[in-house]
Amino acid sequence: MAIRGSCLCGAVTFKLHTPTKFFSHCHCETCRRAHGAAFVSWTGVPDDCFEWLTGAEQLTGYRSSEHATRSFCSRCGTHVRYVSTDWPGTVYVPVATLSDPMDRDPEDHIHAGEAVSWCSLNDELPRYLGFGEDD
Ligand SMILES: [Zn+2]
Ligand SMILES: [Zn+2]
Repeated sequence: MAIRGSCLCGAVTFKLHTPTKFFSHCHCETCRRAHGAAFVSWTGVPDDCFEWLTGAEQLTGYRSSEHATRSFCSRCGTHVRYVSTDWPGTVYVPVATLSDPMDRDPEDHIHAGEAVSWCSLNDELPRYLGFGEDD
């Protein structure tokens, strides 16, 4: 199965081959600023399960840390992909850019210690201070 996604202007389109690896809401400050949002919902797939369909030449990258690059459409600014040498082999994609339904439900809140005070979360999902159970 495949899940398609695109940027706001439609120039950049891509496809994920399922199964995805996770579905997490990230509250870290970097994600919040990069998206101008209270939190960012992420999924990820192995490198070879991510495919650009159109508009790859429109992409611009921003190194948000020594290890991470965030790719966005240079025309409309939509952030469509995150990769990090800290997590080699995985491509991260904002779920909000996907056009097809996800193959799983949201699983947890990560970096919940950085969550803003002005957005209340009413779900029962686990909340981790870091990336998950291990930290
Ligand atoms: Zn665009
Ligand atoms: Zn984050």
